[in-house]
Amino acid sequence: MFNKILIANRGEIALRIIRTCKEMGIKTVAIYSKADAESLHVRFADEAVCIGPAASSESYLNIPRIMAAVEITNADAIHPGYGFLAENANFAEICRQSGVKFIGPTPEMINKMGDKVTAKETMIKAGVPVVPGSDGLLKDVKQGIKIANQIGYPVILKATAGGGGKGMRIVNKDDEFEEAWDSARKEAKASFTNDGIYVEKYVVEPRHIEFQIVGDQFGNVCHLSERDCSIQRRHQKLVEESPSPFMTPELREKMGEAAIKAGKSINYEGVGTIEFLVDKFRNFYFMEMNTRIQVEHPVTEEVIDHDLIKEQIKVAAGIPISGKNYFPTMHAMECRINAEDVMKDFRPSPGKITSFHSAKGHGVRVDTHVYAGYTVPPYYDSMIAKLICKAQTREDCIKKMQRALDEFVIEGIKTTIPFHKALMKDEAFKAGDFNTGFMNTFDMDNCKE
Ligand code: ADP
Repeated sequence: MFNKILIANRGEIALRIIRTCKEMGIKTVAIYSKADAESLHVRFADEAVCIGPAASSESYLNIPRIMAAVEITNADAIHPGYGFLAENANFAEICRQSGVKFIGPTPEMINKMGDKVTAKETMIKAGVPVVPGSDGLLKDVKQGIKIANQIGYPVILKATAGGGGKGMRIVNKDDEFEEAWDSARKEAKASFTNDGIYVEKYVVEPRHIEFQIVGDQFGNVCHLSERDCSIQRRHQKLVEESPSPFMTPELREKMGEAAIKAGKSINYEGVGTIEFLVDKFRNFYFMEMNTRIQVEHPVTEEVIDHDLIKEQIKVAAGIPISGKNYFPTMHAMECRINAEDVMKDFRPSPGKITSFHSAKGHGVRVDTHVYAGYTVPPYYDSMIAKLICKAQTREDCIKKMQRALDEFVIEGIKTTIPFHKALMKDEAFKAGDFNTGFMNTFDMDNCKE
């Protein structure tokens, strides 16, 4: 087992990883930017190293500085968390060459799945259903229009390097193609310095259902059931839950099998997520694979009662997994609490938190790095807390979430709590009747307090 793990991340996930390391008797090193000196992950780690100024390029994305921190502290492994360098094959390769264990898959696996076009090709070969679309990248508008007519409108243009909902455009007819193509390419270039675009059928009113998988160094891959992440705004998740209200035992069996096939096709090692779109007829299509721990992993932890960060560390240390699949025994739901003003189009709302009272009680979990007096910096992701509730049934879980949201007080900045309160009262949501288009018709006036 590792002696000391450096956590190449910040915020709630850094703290989350430190907690598990402590329980496993592993020492921890936090790295931080000057803007994060007051963050809890810095205080809770055994050692902390300031690696640069606020800008991510000068700190959390700066590989030479992170490797210098590894050297100074003598850490023998790096946990990348999510975001930042978590899916950067070059970083994983540098770790390998420096003799530090990257807690995650190999650079080869990251490369295979990081590029969406390559990932789709790999899945087709493995016999996993994918959304019909172009064979690889599009050359130009003309070719795009031709393929769009073959598969039928609506279609979606997607960036091969895509992430965080960026570089995607829906196209309904030939006339709209060129403009969508130009803006998708521009956004992809700016966000990923890669403007490769492909096209696929736009699945109408789908659910986003993903499977958590774990693979070890001995070729075993198992699944830990699904999470439903259909409540999204601009392709970004707001609420996740497990089990999916749309799931049936037969569908879980089929999708779980496909997820394992996907993992086995690249000998996947570590925890990962296979994302699928599911249409109203319960046809499912592979969308992409995330080769890291995800924001919403606590939902799975709660329903199967396992620590996924611990699994990740054990697998990285060469310990085999049991090889059996896990199924939900409870219902869990996560609300992402962001420092955003929901009444102003979810505009970021950084600043000082003047008072903070966390929700508590039976079945309530809060993962956060903030506290009263903490200043939310404007430089990073706006998520400041995750509120996770679990109960025997979905209905009870929603009631618990309502109670927990009422208890949660964050003052000084705007947060997404008013949105979550309104969502938990929404009849369609309560009935489990929703898809990824839910937010297009949701009345934001319900969030007025
Ligand atoms: P990212 O990596 O940027 O998050 P994804 O490929 O995971 O992008 O897609 C994000 C979301 O975009 C999905 O959850 C879904 O709501 C929507 N989406 C992506 N592809 C399609 C498609 N072919 N049809 C319908 N919706 C799609």
